[in-house]
Amino acid sequence: MCSLDPSRLFLLKAASLDDKIHQDCIHISPLEGFEHAETGKIKMNEELKILTLPNGVKIKFEEIIALAGDYYGLPNQPIIDPAFKDIDQEDSGRHQRFRDAYNTLARTPKTDELQNELDKLLATLQKEIETGVTVDASTWDEITGGVWVAGVPLKLGRMMQLAETNYDHFLPNAKNAYLTGHQLAIDKAREAGNYSEDDKDEQKRLLHEAFSLEAFSCHFLTDSFASGHIR
Ligand SMILES: [Zn+2]
Repeated sequence: MCSLDPSRLFLLKAASLDDKIHQDCIHISPLEGFEHAETGKIKMNEELKILTLPNGVKIKFEEIIALAGDYYGLPNQPIIDPAFKDIDQEDSGRHQRFRDAYNTLARTPKTDELQNELDKLLATLQKEIETGVTVDASTWDEITGGVWVAGVPLKLGRMMQLAETNYDHFLPNAKNAYLTGHQLAIDKAREAGNYSEDDKDEQKRLLHEAFSLEAFSCHFLTDSFASGHIR
């Protein structure tokens, strides 16, 4: 069990990620899935290397960064309403929309179908990491339900549907999507702190949820540093 206070551990992790991003941002171009994953490979407490999502899926922090938003989310419900340019403006639904997007990965029942899709996505991601070569969109889209013939989509998968309404991945919406999820992650880490003495298992469960919320948020943070995403 982690000996650090969960909130402190969470803040240390956020600071570590911030440093890593600042070191890397000078030479970042538009981020591919494997680049999102590489950015998320930061020093992680041994116990938190593999996170357990609320639905029981086991996954690494950096893998969530790579999959969030691009492969998991609700195509007809972007997190940030583009009408609100400033996080201080009232966009009261954004926290619920972030939760809804996160839940498509983290609370969808862990069926064989979900695990099979995740295994294929992560294997493709690993292939990109090992070769440094981007896998074509049709391969990714077919994993999420798309049907492609000779390079033409007959039916769009979830990946392409998400790409059609990708407001959340571009500034200033990307920053606001990150801040929305980051707030939820901090709240969850504080909740975990309340269990530190009483119930270690519940503390661990909540802490894993906090880190997975932060990882989902960090997809949009890393998008904020992709030069091709800055408008
Ligand atoms: Zn993105």
